[in-house]
Amino acid sequence: MRHFIETVAILLIMSMPICSPAGSGDVLFQVSTISALMDGAFDGSVAFGDLKKHGDFGLGTFDALDGEMVGLDGRFYQVRADGSVHEVNDSMLTPFADVTFFDPDDAVALSSSNMTEVERSLEELLPTRNIFYAIRIDGTFSHVRARSVPAQIRPYTNLTIAVTNQSIFELYNQSGTAVGFWTPSYASGLNVPGYHLHFINDERTAGGHLLDFHLTNGSASIDYTDIFMMVLPANEGFRRAELEGMDLEATKDVENVRTG
Ligand SMILES: [Zn+2]
Repeated sequence: MRHFIETVAILLIMSMPICSPAGSGDVLFQVSTISALMDGAFDGSVAFGDLKKHGDFGLGTFDALDGEMVGLDGRFYQVRADGSVHEVNDSMLTPFADVTFFDPDDAVALSSSNMTEVERSLEELLPTRNIFYAIRIDGTFSHVRARSVPAQIRPYTNLTIAVTNQSIFELYNQSGTAVGFWTPSYASGLNVPGYHLHFINDERTAGGHLLDFHLTNGSASIDYTDIFMMVLPANEGFRRAELEGMDLEATKDVENVRTG
């Protein structure tokens, strides 16, 4: 069941990497779709041992939606709903993840600013809104609001209901890293349009899906990613998910809500 090639269908949406204006040739490797996760397809389909072959940097979640995943510098972490952080072992499965080998094409220093200001200033650096970007923000954060979700119990509901039981972490004076991606709007349904960022502190003791932050100072790096590779889970949960006619606005609500 878990042999990579046998259990997955691969969909490639790609431009010619060598001829594109950005020309990075970097690959964003994604497991499943955000719409499937929204509909409760929480069964893990790809082992982290396989996922690591496609990136050293990224985000996602775990089988049964058991927490938030942060991948940074080749190490992968699980931030559980109780706030604890654990290093992921290779046999654990993910139902949804995005990874890439982080190789920055641009970088900028950041002064005191909130999440909206940082996101706005980084968007000004994007050479086009038509490709994907991996984003890494290292810095000192006076405040971080992050969340995680508890493992769900079958039969699974959906993400909107699951996050009603989310844990919100208010973290202060943290040195750490925001890890994530910027997705073009045409890819809504596949991923969260705009920014999707997770956080982990330097001590690897706290983090989660980023809801808000205030940065004291830091720097951001952007990796232009013009190859998108997606693996669809070959399991019943995914095959039965009702993905047609989904309310994609709900995706934004679930992923981007900035308060409690
Ligand atoms: Zn997230």
